Amino acid sequence: MQEEKKIDAVECFVEDISKAREIFWINPAVQAAKGGCRKYVSDGAQSDNISRKDIDEAEARLIRFAPYIERVFPETESQGGIIESPLAKIPKMKSYLESHGDKIFGDLFLKCDSHLPISGSVKARGGIYEVLKYAEELAVAEGILTYEDDYSVLAEDRFKEFFSGYSVAVGSTGNLGMSIGIISAKLGFKVDVHMSHDAKEWKKEVLRKAGVNVCEYSGDYEKAVAEGRKLAMADPRCHFVDDENSIDLFLGYAVAGRRLARQLAEQNIPVSEGNHLYVYIPCGVGGAPGGIAFGLKDEFGDNVHIYFAEPVQAPAMTLGLITGKFEKISATDVGLSGLTEADGLAVSRPSALVSPIMQRMLDGCFTVKDERLYPYLANLGEIENIWIEPSACAAFPGPGLVSVNVINGKKKHCHPTHIVWATGGNAVPENIMREYCKKSRDVKETN
Ligand SMILES: *Cc1c(COP(=O)(O)O)cnc(C)c1O
Repeated sequence: MQEEKKIDAVECFVEDISKAREIFWINPAVQAAKGGCRKYVSDGAQSDNISRKDIDEAEARLIRFAPYIERVFPETESQGGIIESPLAKIPKMKSYLESHGDKIFGDLFLKCDSHLPISGSVKARGGIYEVLKYAEELAVAEGILTYEDDYSVLAEDRFKEFFSGYSVAVGSTGNLGMSIGIISAKLGFKVDVHMSHDAKEWKKEVLRKAGVNVCEYSGDYEKAVAEGRKLAMADPRCHFVDDENSIDLFLGYAVAGRRLARQLAEQNIPVSEGNHLYVYIPCGVGGAPGGIAFGLKDEFGDNVHIYFAEPVQAPAMTLGLITGKFEKISATDVGLSGLTEADGLAVSRPSALVSPIMQRMLDGCFTVKDERLYPYLANLGEIENIWIEPSACAAFPGPGLVSVNVINGKKKHCHPTHIVWATGGNAVPENIMREYCKKSRDVKETN
């Protein structure tokens, strides 16, 4: 009986997903964090070797590289070469969301990874981290760098010359390519970015200007990644950044957890048993939001609840988790197009590395129609003066959904803090942003 009911619920969700309806799904398999983050990774799997110690290492590596980052990207000077973004309270946006939807219990914040230095998206965490790690490994193995050195020497021509004997490759819908391309070219690597058809033209232009070789494909993200992987694997001096399986990317993102913990403490925002934190993150393949979720769970345990947001036409992780089929199911298998104007989320199949971890860690997922993204974008811009890209707006329905369906009536959650993770936007050219705003007006007129 119990089993039958469960199957029914799954079928209902899959039916709604296949009809491109917006859904809100609470994960029945979420596990308490007791015992730390280790319990979320399955023994024997590829993710077996991810633990708190690895996040410590990733953080230490980013600190070693800070003098280099500060030297070659002067915009990071004020943060001493640490790539971090502000946490902004957005009370006016909260009022806007409430006047167009459900009441939100608690305060609303925006984590502005849209404004991360260097590439203006969340990919400046994982993407840059992975390339720095590769560069460090090469230079240390060659005997031209030690962990104790001041890494600003890496900006010298002799290092650029050394790195030019190696290459970096990645498949991307856009933002990952931007991060990998910019940092790799800066270090001196040759770099190929394999881009899917949904990648925006202006992103390709930025990359070409930075000296990146942009390879274009008529197929989707999965095909661009597969092609890039094949070419890269044939070359031992090429490092392929594997968005679907990379532990290094994951760890670069995970460092966000402890950084956010410090920011919350600085702003006197308590996270405790009576003050739960609710975090909403737009999801593509799952690496960025998964890594961030891992870092947050590691910091806050059961006092943090994490939800992923996806477009109705590309609900890769949502579908993978609801069916339990992970990367074995694609949004296209249930008749969806996989196409969305949220280019950062235009992914049909979730990461094989990340999905099983999220099955135990995530509180839930929800999907959003593309046409809702533009009004969020335009209103956030107009009333809070924070400009972000359409993909980064996917998480805005979260606080209302969770307030009504989860928090409502529960006393122990009496002072919740909601954080919508703005995953990108600062690199968007002004004329493109104006087009997005125009689309918001078009949506209003047709409704
Ligand atoms: C890449 C990206 C995401 C999601 O990251 P995944 O690792 O693909 O899940 C979300 N928003 C933006 C703007 C992105 O570029």
